[in-house]
Amino acid sequence: MQLNKNQQIIAEKIKALKDAAGSHSPSIFTLIERIPELKITIDACFLSNPYATDLFMRYLQQELCDTKKLRDVLEFYPSQNSVIAEVLANRLDLDKECIFVGNGAIEVIQAVLHNFVERKIVVNIPTFSSYYEFSNTKTEVVLYQLAKEKDFALDTQAYIEFVKTQKPQSIVIINPNNPDGGYIPYEELRLIIASLPEVENIIIDESFLHFAFEDDTYSFLSYSALFKEFPNVILIKSMSKDFGIAGIRAGYGIMAKDKVARLLQNGYLWNSNGLSEYFFRLYVRNGFISEYENVRKLYIQQTQEFFTHLSQIPKLKVYPSKANFAIIEILNGETSTEFVMKMLIKYGIYVRTCSDKIGLNGEFIRLASRSKEENTKIIQSLHNELRHS
Ligand SMILES: *Cc1c(COP(=O)(O)O)cnc(C)c1O
Repeated sequence: MQLNKNQQIIAEKIKALKDAAGSHSPSIFTLIERIPELKITIDACFLSNPYATDLFMRYLQQELCDTKKLRDVLEFYPSQNSVIAEVLANRLDLDKECIFVGNGAIEVIQAVLHNFVERKIVVNIPTFSSYYEFSNTKTEVVLYQLAKEKDFALDTQAYIEFVKTQKPQSIVIINPNNPDGGYIPYEELRLIIASLPEVENIIIDESFLHFAFEDDTYSFLSYSALFKEFPNVILIKSMSKDFGIAGIRAGYGIMAKDKVARLLQNGYLWNSNGLSEYFFRLYVRNGFISEYENVRKLYIQQTQEFFTHLSQIPKLKVYPSKANFAIIEILNGETSTEFVMKMLIKYGIYVRTCSDKIGLNGEFIRLASRSKEENTKIIQSLHNELRHS
């Protein structure tokens, strides 16, 4: 179904905002502010667990808002980096000296790339764009293409051989990967790490790990425990997606003690704000974590059901994912940008085009799993749209 005249005008305005936003989508706030006539009801771009946000809100309300503590959080300085690292060290069962707390994982990525990655880095594509955009200008970025024919799964042996031939100083593995959700099982990733002791920095980004699982108990396995065995590993973890708290900026890195010391020597003293400190202190409380485990597992279950329903819609190819989103190839002859516009303007559903993602050839969108109710609306709208194509 084609857009009418008014809808086309809106489409032009969205395109202009998208062009201005570079390799990230314009935020839903920007869209609503600049194009008030646009009615957005579901943001399926943003990759977070909405139930975890509800949980955090409940704690925040009871412990900060309903008491006088919010004032303290706003009025006083938060703790210094190394103090919050000490809090985290308990939960992660690691020495505090190997934890670097970031203003979101993005700050950890930036710090690592700017301080420890000078020479060649291998980045698998498609990827989270910061890993090549934030590299030092002198760093040679070598792109390793994940094959569409193999559903973007990493071929362990081929990858190890590629890295051995390239001899990079650093490599990046996002597990599960963004944007495709491809997951490397624990033992396989362990094999990659064990096979590449000559690589100075093995950067593992586990920002979506809480949505992945190895068996039907939905438990996940983090590389944080293996860190002691492989000191060349730099683990990066965002709390934004799994805890649904991108607005407060909380993330951390785990790396060799001398690296953390180097970063803290001349910066990052109060880079966490009061709310993210409050979150990190919650994160080590068992009561909070057991409630979180319930909403994590509930959300995984609903996400897997969502993927099943998506895969039954005609003219869409859904790629396998162990994250809370999937990439979908549009096979109705439209470009992904056209398709995204239609979903937004006709149904109020904001999905992400992948037209700016290098290494994704074809018409792809990335769709996040939201609440069960929202997922149902997304499925209905897609059915409706594609029935007519
Ligand atoms: C979103 C994202 C980040 C950044 O997370 P923040 O903690 O919000 O800065 C890092 N890595 C990947 C793979 C992401 O998708």
